[in-house]
Amino acid sequence: MVLKLFNTLTRTKEEFKPLRPREARLYHCGPTVYNFVHIGNLRAYVLADILRRTLEHNGYEVKQVLNITDVGEPTSDESEDKMAKGLRREGKPFTLEAMSELGEFYTKAFLQDLQSLNIQPPSVMPRASKYIKEDIEIIDILLKKDIAYKISDLPAQAGGIYFDTSKFPEYGTRGGFKLGDTAKESARIAINLEKRNARDFALWKFASSDLPSFQSPFGPGFPGWHIECSAMSRKYLGQPFDIHTGGIDHIPTHHQNEIAQSEAAYGVPLANYWLHSEFVKVPSGEKMSKSEENFLTLKKLTEKGIHPLAYRYYLLQTHYRSPLQFSWEALAGAQTAYFKLLHAFAGLRGSRLIGDLPPVRRRGGKRQDIINDDLNTPVLLAHLWELVKEKNRSAILDADRILGLDIENQAQKLAEETKNIPDEIQKLAGAREDARRAKDFKTSDALRVQIEQKGFTVSDTNDGSIIRRVGI
Ligand code: AMP
Ligand code: ZN
Repeated sequence: MVLKLFNTLTRTKEEFKPLRPREARLYHCGPTVYNFVHIGNLRAYVLADILRRTLEHNGYEVKQVLNITDVGEPTSDESEDKMAKGLRREGKPFTLEAMSELGEFYTKAFLQDLQSLNIQPPSVMPRASKYIKEDIEIIDILLKKDIAYKISDLPAQAGGIYFDTSKFPEYGTRGGFKLGDTAKESARIAINLEKRNARDFALWKFASSDLPSFQSPFGPGFPGWHIECSAMSRKYLGQPFDIHTGGIDHIPTHHQNEIAQSEAAYGVPLANYWLHSEFVKVPSGEKMSKSEENFLTLKKLTEKGIHPLAYRYYLLQTHYRSPLQFSWEALAGAQTAYFKLLHAFAGLRGSRLIGDLPPVRRRGGKRQDIINDDLNTPVLLAHLWELVKEKNRSAILDADRILGLDIENQAQKLAEETKNIPDEIQKLAGAREDARRAKDFKTSDALRVQIEQKGFTVSDTNDGSIIRRVGI
């Protein structure tokens, strides 16, 4: 089956047709590095990774850019801008150096999260702060074409170069980008009386002259968030490129604006396919958000005994276009399933390869058909369990090339870890297993608490329980 992807531009599942034969160029909007990313953000990058692996499985050579937004749009050191907020929170001075330091710290933590989730490193991870020249180039063209205009720095903190949305008649008219789809969208439009149209947005924001900022021919300031992505994608992938991804919150404003400014400047599309992942929601039904205090990090999950790849497994159980209501119970269930999978795979070691596949990557076939239907990971996971039942080691590994659960390595690690569980913990776990079998759940729960207090976790499967040291 050909690869089909749901394209926000047309709101339909379309066959993927690359711009260049056997090559796919991808851009993913990266995090703003003013804080740790939360587990909701990570869903967007797991989607990016699944997309990349699927394309590779289909025989494409993939060029993948994931940017790091390490510069904000602060107009003053009291502004609501994310990077400015980060500096304030950490008691750092409002300087470009401090902003860069803050960004590097959270970038490192982000890279660590990507690695823990077995997300393959993208080809390039450009830092927005290093592409000011490229931002200016686009803004310059827009000014010359009279599509951008300048607002003086009055009223205070609103001055800058703005994009005139009336000069791009297709603004807000295409497929999923149609305006008015999201109620929240109107709330995001900044009030500024000097703007020509309510939806005009800043390409460059002037900073007060006494503050450090970037130099530009228009005056000192900071690039707008949207222009950074237009500039970095163009630099590394050209224009148009194949696929642009992000979370659904980016559709009405950020991606809409990226499209408008890039197309208006160069007269060709920015990207042919736009993929958007749905939110991870917190129990109250709200979207998890960095600025709210309701966010969970991957580190927090690990501290609670959750393996990062169990979180990956958890995410893959839901299709990327469906919202995911976070729950600890469901996550624990996913972890049990993941360990069971590893356990079963470890048991297959040395078993004869009975698969329909040689142990090398093979294109086509059932697994590819499943994933080619708009990245259907829940169905591929279900299929993986059929392969486990069939003891088809080779096909399991092939499915894992797409799912990225690192089954072979993790199964080996788990088997080794299980050997190294101290006697004391083994005894407690044995007693707990007995209590569980006797349906004495009070005792089994108390024993679980004891085991956890000693730094281990227990996951129950039909074949007994799996014990792990927390944080491994
Ligand atoms: P930001 O740093 O806010 O630009 O977010 C980084 C990525 O995470 C973007 O692709 C967002 O769309 C995505 N994102 C933000 N919040 C959530 C959430 N609660 N669930 C899933 N994705 C999210
Ligand atoms: Zn972006």
